[in-house]
Amino acid sequence: MSFHIIIVGAGSAGCVLANRLSANPATRVCLVEAGPPDRNPLIHMPLGLALLARNRAINWGFATEPDPALNSRRLYWPRGRVLGGSSSINAMIYMRGHPDDYRAWAAAVGPAWDWPRVRQIFLDHEGNTALADAHHGTSGPLAVSNLRQVNPLSRAFVQAGVECQLHDNPDFNGARQDGVGIYQVTQRDGRRFSSARAFLDPVRARPNLTILTGVQVQRVLFSGHQASGVRLGDRDLALAPGGEVILCGGAVNSPQMLLLSGIGPGAQLQAMGLPVLHDAPEVGRNLADHLDITVQAAASRAAIGLAPSFVPRALRAAIAYARHGAGELTSNVAEAGGFALSDPTRDRPNLQFHFIPAYIHDHGRRTAWGYGLTLHVCDLLPKSRGTISLASPDPLAPPRIAANYLSHPDDLPTLLAGFKLARRIVRSPALAPHVRRETLPGPGVQSDADLIADIRARAETIYHPVGTCRMGLDDRSVVDPAGKVRGVNGLRVIDASIMPQIIAGNTNAPVMMLAENIARMMLDPSA
Ligand SMILES: Cc1cc2nc3c(=O)[nH]c(=O)nc-3n(C[C@H](O)[C@H](O)[C@H](O)COP(=O)(O)OP(=O)(O)OC[C@H]3O[C@@H](n4cnc5c(N)ncnc54)[C@H](O)[C@@H]3O)c2cc1C
Repeated sequence: MSFHIIIVGAGSAGCVLANRLSANPATRVCLVEAGPPDRNPLIHMPLGLALLARNRAINWGFATEPDPALNSRRLYWPRGRVLGGSSSINAMIYMRGHPDDYRAWAAAVGPAWDWPRVRQIFLDHEGNTALADAHHGTSGPLAVSNLRQVNPLSRAFVQAGVECQLHDNPDFNGARQDGVGIYQVTQRDGRRFSSARAFLDPVRARPNLTILTGVQVQRVLFSGHQASGVRLGDRDLALAPGGEVILCGGAVNSPQMLLLSGIGPGAQLQAMGLPVLHDAPEVGRNLADHLDITVQAAASRAAIGLAPSFVPRALRAAIAYARHGAGELTSNVAEAGGFALSDPTRDRPNLQFHFIPAYIHDHGRRTAWGYGLTLHVCDLLPKSRGTISLASPDPLAPPRIAANYLSHPDDLPTLLAGFKLARRIVRSPALAPHVRRETLPGPGVQSDADLIADIRARAETIYHPVGTCRMGLDDRSVVDPAGKVRGVNGLRVIDASIMPQIIAGNTNAPVMMLAENIARMMLDPSA
């Protein structure tokens, strides 16, 4: 059997495309996912997120190369490997980014990506149950809601931010982005609403949609320069004449799949003993990510804690969740946050905060005993760029991720300014009743030199890698404004990897928007 459309990867983008492109019953669509179905209950119970980083069965668990600016540390990069992809393991924050992000995209890629058009797609996707003004959609397939329960520390963080002259912002996707507030989340009735729940569940029964799980695509097959199918471990999937393969493997796996298929920098492919189908120097380049540093403090028992005294509360939480889908187990962990300027002369925010009313150690991989709080701050508009390349021609081996954080001289001062502001917020009067003592970076770290040393010793990803199959108008770009891979026919890439520039915010909703935009172009090329 052959398919008109083969979608590789059922993540944020892949599920949107599977839904839209299988709407016509005459189009045979196959969605291929390397990971398992999304049955693990920790995926669906929001606080389960704190344990998901430990679960290798649903997580690629990548490691970067030793990073020169970060004391040669290898950073841990979780990515979802399950139906829903990273939207099944993420922190559920609903964020679109800044309108200027998309104005910059349009300048680089053309009017199909300008703010008015992409804004309308965000509204069409959104099923907001809490906000219903001109900035929001209320009837779309993606459930967006307020948190059902907000920890008192998260509210105190917002107050502390206001005490540091930040604006109290009840809606980061509304009239203005800057300020502090409680995040809206992709949840319904206290359960995670991943891309799989929003876009795949409603259409699973379509007879023209085949969903394969536990199957890792190794490469795209070609007849000349025309895509003809994909190679799975033990068999091939064939494309029907005129069909298309769409890679939706995310910012790490999609460039890897292109390279394994012979599309990429010729010299790199030859060094790996791979035939060069199309010499495309930018495949794997332009990797951008949000680098993040934390302030941690021992906190009052109002925090979410791992301690014997927390046991009665945990039991109450379990009962509230089981009976009403409510209570502390509906926390998305990163409950509050906001956007700020690293210096007042800037015209838009370049820092983002994520506030967690708990300790988090090593992305949740290390047990965090006691009551604590963690305030994250990241550089939203970094200029440093990294690369994804092949470590081996073996399709099952992870690729080489050289993130090159802080390799541009402008990035360290921005993160340093954010670090200082985060520390001021944690020391503000509104948080004083909850803060026992700062544990990280700790009272011994005061001078700029010490803070920079601490950044190099502890900074981590906040999970937004993009850009490794850059979309553009120029011949060097990997894909054109409709996601078509240059130099071959019948192949597109549609996921976080094609973002022309990183956006100033969390990346899940923008990736779904991006997939929807190209799905509309495919269904009606004149639109
Ligand atoms: C821990 C974490 C927290 C985050 N928190 C937030 C948040 O709160 N809010 C937010 O907006 N964003 C958040 N993000 C980012 C956001 O979730 C991602 O940017 C987004 O999901 C990326 O979408 P994608 O479609 O590009 O890739 P993914 O969603 O990662 O999907 C790629 C899919 O392709 C599959 N795949 C890859 N290679 C193959 C292959 N060879 N064969 C078959 N299948 C393959 C993968 O298994 C995966 O399912 C977070 C991410 C992480 C990891």
